[in-house]
Amino acid sequence: TKQRGRHGYTLFNHELRRNQADQLALEAELRHALENRHELVPYYQAIVDSHSGKLAGFETLVRWHHPQRGLIAPGVFLPMAEESGLILKLDRYMIEHACAQLAQWYGSGRIDHAVCLHINLSSAHFHDPGLVGWLQELMQRHALPVGTLHLEITESALIDVPDVAIEVMRQLKERGICLALDDFGTGYSALSYLHRYHFDVLKIDQAFVRDIHCHEESSAIVRAILALAAALGLDVVAEGVETMLQVQTLRQLGCPRLQGYYFARPAPAAELDWPRLAGM
Ligand code: C2E
Ligand code: CA
Ligand code: CA
Ligand code: CA
Repeated sequence: TKQRGRHGYTLFNHELRRNQADQLALEAELRHALENRHELVPYYQAIVDSHSGKLAGFETLVRWHHPQRGLIAPGVFLPMAEESGLILKLDRYMIEHACAQLAQWYGSGRIDHAVCLHINLSSAHFHDPGLVGWLQELMQRHALPVGTLHLEITESALIDVPDVAIEVMRQLKERGICLALDDFGTGYSALSYLHRYHFDVLKIDQAFVRDIHCHEESSAIVRAILALAAALGLDVVAEGVETMLQVQTLRQLGCPRLQGYYFARPAPAAELDWPRLAGM
């Protein structure tokens, strides 16, 4: 009795979150999936230059194609992955695959080096002393130019580990890796973070985009974020853009980059709609 929900996930996903025995089973299964690989699939979602309308990058989002349970959303298994520490392996797996994929696209002339790759990074990695060297080796192996790799970090991720995070992020930047602050506006003392952590990009949380026409506060916040970013010389991506009206408003407000279902849904590499992406 697995019914497909709106996003192709099974209803089982919702039950899965509640039951503790299920959580343990899921953890064992994720461990197994990380050994066997191929069950965890990187999906790619386009990021578009709002001015030219051209493809500017991709964000990589994990999906679990479970042999019995079907497609599982990251919201279901990422909390467990964080708690168990499996997130370290999972993120590295995603980064490795996405970098190889990016190198292949560059090599085949599918995209040029102006198209960058965004990857989500859990805060757990700030305690991993091997991360920076590993990433550097990976970039060298795939000949990825400086500025092509963006790591997305959420505000809340920085709260637990302020000092360690600063040092790791400084080292990442030194090696030509860009940093994006994810879910901007939903966290705590966001402004001081911008200054201290040397972010390159802000991602405006989809909650503000969704409400941009319903709540005046939301459009005021988007305006303020854009003004702040311009003053600090930061790039901005608005997430969760679903309608033409949102596109128009965000363009008018001068938001440089857009991402959302309006342009493209996340899809596995083999299913990307290249004619459409090329026409962007
Ligand atoms: P996020 O990084 O904020 O990613 C944006 C989420 O919004 C994604 O959900 C994406 O599929 C969804 N989305 C994109 N466009 C639209 C839209 O127009 N409308 C709506 N309603 N949603 C849209 P997803 O893929 O379920 O991922 C959820 C979260 O899981 C991500 O939020 C991210 O924090 C985390 N995540 C995903 N993949 C990874 C990963 O490989 N590693 C880590 N550490 N976290 C990941
Ligand atoms: Ca993200
Ligand atoms: Ca986000
Ligand atoms: Ca989020």
